[in-house]
Amino acid sequence: MSNPAPYAHVILPLPTNGYTYAIPAHLNVQVGSLVRVPLGKTRHYWGVVSALQDKQPEGVTCKEIEQVAYPFPLVTPTQLQLWSWMAGYYCCTMGDVLKAALPTLLQHDTYKPAQQTYVKLVGDTSTVKREQQVAILERFKQLTAANDMDEISVPEPNEEPCQSISVPAPNEEPCQSISVPEPVEGPDANKVEGPDANKKVLKSDLLEGQSLSAFNTLVKHGILACFEQETSRLVMPIQEQAWPVLSKAQQAALQSINQAFAEKDMVLLHGVTASGKTEIYLKKIQETLQKGQQVLYLVPEIALTSQLENRLQRVLGGKMVAYHSQISDNHRAEIYLNLLQGKEIQVVLGTRSSVFLPFQKLGLVIIDEEHEPSYKQYEPAPRYHAKNAALVMAQFTQAQTLLGSATPSIETYYLAQQGKYGYVPLTERYSQVLLPRVEVIDRQDAFKKNRMNDMFSWFLKEKMEETLRAGQQVILFQNRRGFSSFVECTACGYVPKCKHCDVSLTYHKNTDKLVCHYCGYTQPMPPVCPSCGAEGLKDKGFGTEKVVEALQKYFPDVSVDRLDVDITRSKTQYQGVLNRFASGQTKILVGTQMVAKGFDFENIGLVGILNADNMMNFPDFRASERAFQLMVQVSGRAGRRNQQGLVVLQTSQPEHYLIPAVLSQNMSVFYQNELQERKEFGYPPFVRLIEIQVRHKQYTEACQIADELALHLQKHREVRVLGPSAGVIGRVQQYFVRQMLLKVIGSGAQVRQQIMEHINQIKKIHPTAVVVVDVDPI
Ligand code: ADP
Ligand code: ZN
Repeated sequence: MSNPAPYAHVILPLPTNGYTYAIPAHLNVQVGSLVRVPLGKTRHYWGVVSALQDKQPEGVTCKEIEQVAYPFPLVTPTQLQLWSWMAGYYCCTMGDVLKAALPTLLQHDTYKPAQQTYVKLVGDTSTVKREQQVAILERFKQLTAANDMDEISVPEPNEEPCQSISVPAPNEEPCQSISVPEPVEGPDANKVEGPDANKKVLKSDLLEGQSLSAFNTLVKHGILACFEQETSRLVMPIQEQAWPVLSKAQQAALQSINQAFAEKDMVLLHGVTASGKTEIYLKKIQETLQKGQQVLYLVPEIALTSQLENRLQRVLGGKMVAYHSQISDNHRAEIYLNLLQGKEIQVVLGTRSSVFLPFQKLGLVIIDEEHEPSYKQYEPAPRYHAKNAALVMAQFTQAQTLLGSATPSIETYYLAQQGKYGYVPLTERYSQVLLPRVEVIDRQDAFKKNRMNDMFSWFLKEKMEETLRAGQQVILFQNRRGFSSFVECTACGYVPKCKHCDVSLTYHKNTDKLVCHYCGYTQPMPPVCPSCGAEGLKDKGFGTEKVVEALQKYFPDVSVDRLDVDITRSKTQYQGVLNRFASGQTKILVGTQMVAKGFDFENIGLVGILNADNMMNFPDFRASERAFQLMVQVSGRAGRRNQQGLVVLQTSQPEHYLIPAVLSQNMSVFYQNELQERKEFGYPPFVRLIEIQVRHKQYTEACQIADELALHLQKHREVRVLGPSAGVIGRVQQYFVRQMLLKVIGSGAQVRQQIMEHINQIKKIHPTAVVVVDVDPI
């Protein structure tokens, strides 16, 4: 086979951009091929060809590619385009991207399609005497008669995976005969040619309750034959086509969305909680499928997929799959190949890694709950934001993107205001349910008047009792983020903030100092409150466990459950919590931001926000935005069906500009305020942030490398460097951490390139230093 070019650049699953290899004449290597290559003296890797080249790099003699894994490219040109954008934008290597993008089994060429053993009738049944054997043949006839004739055929070597049967039999016995023997000629041979001749059944089905030894005898005598056939792991249920009927308001929104799409490729659907955004997405999916195009439906959290998965599967059946970290490696690989080969899958409901899937005709990307920070990957590289990646991919494929949220991120809202995105508001809840009523309780005041029981104001406790008596459920929201990281005056609620950065200072216990983790500004912990003079600035954080404990004291007979990060680590556990709450078995659900996700429960009468300050004072410039989003979202869980719900919001800063915004759920005032502050202090969307951490086992080295890097980067006119300073955690696993924050004006393309070049330099001079770059940190 001749190759168009004698060399190929290969991306390896290592923190590099890859190397060039020679293509031996007998191999068919294309862009996107998965190939095996040698590295160094002894190592071998599977990698992906990113480009073909005429020449080898100067002064290098390239080694040869050893093997090609599939007869087709495993990665499409569009995917490679996305990979290369990602490496460039997020300052990481192509190898980092490869590792995140390709399902593990495909990376190593270890994926094997599932096999199942089928049984066929090949011999003369009239010779069969023994009763047990007759029983098996009877069952065979039953099973084949029940099957659809058309779906049954003699397997060809390259037959497509069988869709109708989906459960592989575990621990399949090895079969005595794999090949299908010729039918036995004899006086009764025509019996074999009867209606059953070409039918097959699953061995596991046939053997259900039957004798294995009798079966084996039949196989031995050439009456039954076994063979292996590829099968799909995907569940392909029957389609019901229960498409939604939209309300008037939803219909109007859909129309506006389509109008906006006529002019722009990106549209923001800003719909209040329980306005039925999901139903609108479904309609858009339907329209897209009718055009013969595919849909990527992104959700921020696995926890959200199960509720949606059922809803979507009811309308889409086998055209839709879920793709997230809790599906098996085999399953992921199968979904990937199914999409790559343009088979059944038309809709993928997935978390962030599904942006890497090889869609062939992507028409629509839905980014649900677009404001969610969990779209961002923190660790390891690529530290990408799936929303950005999806938007970029949609651009490459000319797909449309529909972003949806009841509380859009400041950045998205700003872009919509600027006319970069289409903007469609939906202000009405489905079936005219009212938005919840919000009551604000001043925690300081209640505290002084002795009207607090632990974290519950008397008012909240009373409302909880009323709600439970009325047979309704309660959600209590306590954000654990920020737990013990900032300090607060117990008397007046004062929180020390950084003069330069408008964020709360972080308390470092070991040094007893308050530190700004943006710019490094440090001050001693004041002995008395600088605002009211009271003694003892205190950390007042409490977690969900404490709330549950307190509930046992005040509501001993009420069933309580907890939903937080600990719980969501196990799929069965959080599914259990959600099911128990949805069925009404649990009366009070205590949770962190997990309960603010887009869950749809029917019977919530009351939502209690135990401590709003905890969120508002988190040392992050996004604290107000996040607090606003969380409070509106968690409030949105209240009163979804038929009647208005109540929200009790406990805070010691009732005069903060956030609170009226939550009360009225009025975004625009809040957003204007927030944008003003962002502009003043230089935060996104007015600048881009890049966080760089230098880690080294030697403290002086860490400082020196970071200082040098900062000095270089400062030379850029469009860059302002904050720091370097000690990280939030000064030392991580033996490594000293120095971090800096860059504020970049403009696109920052040049700066990113420079950062990469500097890092390569640093790696050469200080091979043991680790430099971590986080672009658009969250
Ligand atoms: P959102 O995502 O905007 O918060 P949901 O899509 O969860 O809202 O809808 C809220 C509730 O209203 C859900 O239980 C949903 O099934 C119901 N609903 C919304 N629109 C419709 C519709 N057109 N037909 C039937 N039920 C609907
Ligand atoms: Zn600062």
